[in-house]
Amino acid sequence: MEQYSRVMGINFPKNTLDRTVEILSDVIQENRAELFHVITVNPEITMACQKDSSLRSIIDEAGLITADGIGIVMVSRLRGGNLPERVTGYDTLLKLLHSGNQKKWSFYFLGADPLTNEKVCEVIGEKYPDLLILGRHHGFFKQSEEDQIIEEIGSLKPDILVVALGAPYAERWIHKYKSKLNAKIAIGVGGSLDVIAGKVKATPDSWKRLNLEWLYRLIQQPSRWKRQLILPRFAVRALLFREGK
Ligand code: UDP
Repeated sequence: MEQYSRVMGINFPKNTLDRTVEILSDVIQENRAELFHVITVNPEITMACQKDSSLRSIIDEAGLITADGIGIVMVSRLRGGNLPERVTGYDTLLKLLHSGNQKKWSFYFLGADPLTNEKVCEVIGEKYPDLLILGRHHGFFKQSEEDQIIEEIGSLKPDILVVALGAPYAERWIHKYKSKLNAKIAIGVGGSLDVIAGKVKATPDSWKRLNLEWLYRLIQQPSRWKRQLILPRFAVRALLFREGK
């Protein structure tokens, strides 16, 4: 069986969420020299890649990509690709925190607004007392502060650098500073810190099971409607896309 399913020219590995976390756990244990960049690729990023070759090469260079959202999974299935399930940044982060708590991994949390960044570290510290929070910084820093943040992360050498700066800015940021960050793994997690901190409501499991996460987010944050217009456009283009080999 093919290990990948191709959607709009991007090869998505057929990994479940659990398998994804297993791979990441191995990466941490292997102590690799290079940062392992995980990118959760959603329909917006997939569409953006069609026109933006720099973003496309960031995805091609990633250690691992995941199918972020039911849109990618459905298109894959309709085209016979059979991606097993969606692997979102939020779900991956929760599993990493859970495993990190068992295996005593160290984390650095970059991103979200200052209050949320502080709050999220309190919440995570309480819920997962055995993982190590090496440091944190909010995501609204000035250009002039950037070098210091990179230096701090680089000197702390976290197992996992969690970047909540919004996509695809987080992905570009990680890629740009990859060689200086000294993290084993870096992952962009979109608005996940907002959810863990309680600023934004988490999608209830019943909605997730019905694959209606996108609708729940739209109801919670109606300002996202413009962004979500891309979903039907993505579906049509991706289904008609002529995949090369
Ligand atoms: N954010 C940030 N710095 C910025 C812009 C955004 O830290 O300059 C944070 C924002 O507070 C939020 C996250 O990035 O926590 C983006 O959330 P969103 O749900 O928009 O994620 P996306 O789906 O765009 O990846």
